Amino acid sequence: MTDLTDLTIAEALSAMKSKKISAEELTKAYIKKTEEGRKYNAYVLETPEVALQAAKVADENYAKGTERALEGIPMGIKDLFCTKGIRTTACSHIIDNFVPQYESTVTQNLLNAGVGFLGKLNMDEFAMGGSNETSYFGPVINPWSKDVDLVPGGSSGGSAAAVAAKMCAAATGTDTGGSIRQPAAFCGITGIKPTYGRCSRYGIMAFASSLDQAGPMAKDVKDCALLLNVMAGHDEKDSTSSRKDVPDFTKVLGQDVKGLKIGIPQEYRPQGLNKEIEQAWDKAIAMLKERGAEIVDISLPHTKYALPVYYIIAPAEASSNLARYDGVRFGERVDGAHLDDLYINTRTQGFGKEVKRRIMVGTYVLSAGYYDAYYVKAQKVRRLIQNDFKNAFEKCDVILTPTSPTEAFPIGDKTMVENPINMYLNDVFTVSVNLAGLPALSLPIGLSAKGLPLGMQLIGKAFDEETVFKTAYALEQDAAFKRI
Ligand code: GLN
Repeated sequence: MTDLTDLTIAEALSAMKSKKISAEELTKAYIKKTEEGRKYNAYVLETPEVALQAAKVADENYAKGTERALEGIPMGIKDLFCTKGIRTTACSHIIDNFVPQYESTVTQNLLNAGVGFLGKLNMDEFAMGGSNETSYFGPVINPWSKDVDLVPGGSSGGSAAAVAAKMCAAATGTDTGGSIRQPAAFCGITGIKPTYGRCSRYGIMAFASSLDQAGPMAKDVKDCALLLNVMAGHDEKDSTSSRKDVPDFTKVLGQDVKGLKIGIPQEYRPQGLNKEIEQAWDKAIAMLKERGAEIVDISLPHTKYALPVYYIIAPAEASSNLARYDGVRFGERVDGAHLDDLYINTRTQGFGKEVKRRIMVGTYVLSAGYYDAYYVKAQKVRRLIQNDFKNAFEKCDVILTPTSPTEAFPIGDKTMVENPINMYLNDVFTVSVNLAGLPALSLPIGLSAKGLPLGMQLIGKAFDEETVFKTAYALEQDAAFKRI
């Protein structure tokens, strides 16, 4: 029999429906892969018993013909999503014993659709990072690594590695500045950050509330569409959650892209752009052209300000969101002689280096005297970045860019570790999308000379995930990327 973990979600659902396989068999196949793949450090908690229980229910539902949308699909969950009764840590020492009393809306939606949870996935601490190296539980190894251990990208590094190594059928991710798309690109999988407001943020530990969005990470475009169908939707528990109807995102897959206008932003092709990334981009452009799409040059003139704006706004919001981890309201308490000492000891020992750096930067840009010069200014430039996209979308339907300026790099890479700015630069193609609240998907387009996956990003108009999915599906057919 073929390896069941090779099946996409779409294939597994039809195999279960026609009783060729059972949910229990499928779940056991993934549990086996999870055990074999422990060397990658993708899971920080395995919950095989939870997944098997869900599989039992799933098989009963298939027998009765009452199966739900994703009945019997075993998934991994990024450890930023609160899961009722299952330890949730944000991969931080400060809450590494936290067992939530409630379920996040996105994971509840998945449970309601018949998904089983295989466990909680590793990530950068509080989702701050681009390599999964800031996790309290140690780095994740990219399954594409050959002679040296490579990062899987971040912050959803455990999610991307687990999907790539077939340790789950799909995973949840969150994306504040690229954390779904960049790890998807580094690990040769597909992931979409939906429009801000599409998925509820309720029960997802907050990093930067005006930028955070949850989304699916999966083997292919169709699986992402199937997952987003279930994950998205209005939620009264999140005041920024959209009331817009959620269409069936699979409906558009396979539709013609002829006549579609594809925007190519000149600012994303700076002098010195990695040649292989540039060639992959040109290849993707050629594929869409071949299918009759129209290639349009566009300009996003404020792109050069996107990183500085992001690295002001994200830490500002983070410093405020993380104030609750004080050892009194939340967080592992480290006592002290006075209340101030208690706060200082708790936060000094509880948070890692990168999180503390963000809290310092965020507190600084919000402090009296600097607030106008940094935070308010950044908000103004954020609007200009949003306007850039608005203007660009008068000329095109969807924008195509590389996902990341590099392929996966080695764990402990000196240039990244010693200079955090270099790590931040890796987010150059992804952060604008969050600042503008737009949907964007990353899919693998080919391999570099070193045999590592390269990802392309498709950016859509707000609430137009459908055009993104349609274009991605066409590219996916042409790229014929081979998964591990
Ligand atoms: N790499 C970016 C950062 O470190 C994005 C993180 C994210 O999207 N959660 O902030």
